[in-house]
Amino acid sequence: MSSPRVLLAILLSAALTASCGLDEEPTASPPKKPRKTAEAVKAASGCDEAGDGFESDVKLVRCLTEKFWVKRFKDAGGTYQPIKRFIAYRGNRAPSSATCAGEKAEPENAFYCSDGHFIAYDVDWLKSMYRQIGDAAVYFVIPHEFGHSVQAQLGTEFKYNVKLELQADCYAGATLAGLVESEELEFEDGDDEELIANLEEVGDPTDEWWEPDAHGTPEKRMKALVKGLEKGVDAC
Ligand SMILES: [Zn+2]
Repeated sequence: MSSPRVLLAILLSAALTASCGLDEEPTASPPKKPRKTAEAVKAASGCDEAGDGFESDVKLVRCLTEKFWVKRFKDAGGTYQPIKRFIAYRGNRAPSSATCAGEKAEPENAFYCSDGHFIAYDVDWLKSMYRQIGDAAVYFVIPHEFGHSVQAQLGTEFKYNVKLELQADCYAGATLAGLVESEELEFEDGDDEELIANLEEVGDPTDEWWEPDAHGTPEKRMKALVKGLEKGVDAC
């Protein structure tokens, strides 16, 4: 990590602490709840990956995320539909199987496609974030895309795309918190900094929230993620 990014992370972290503390007593101390992603600790039922490297982390987080939603849907009296395909593609050489509603998969992206109910990701891009930022990149990006698959199943609609994106961020946070609660993942020192760095990478550089491709600024995305982490799915 270069020092400017570290500085930014500290600034963002401070801003978050300030905004999160508004409802409670104003304090300069860090939030009590860990705002972090996760490191796999053990192989759990059906998800027998060690989570000890990029490929393994990707497989594990996919499995655990679906496990989380299967239970969540069941508890609510519904049935979660697992995605049909999980496609890794390389940069601008995406296979036709990753084409979504006639649009070819773009480099440096991950997406959920409701037309076909699948998730595809540029493996080179995800891996480079994993290397540069840390495993939190994978533990955020994949649950975020599954968040879109949940929205599709629930028929969620918003007037502005940015709302869908921020809700998917919130769902990602809720997923991670749920998996930590069920002791399938645990937080690791530095995960929060990694997450902030990841959102800095994937967040919008400017706040043109009305644009159809808007995802939200890193600050807004972090707030949505923290909401899910602290308050769970229902708060999303
Ligand atoms: Zn998204």
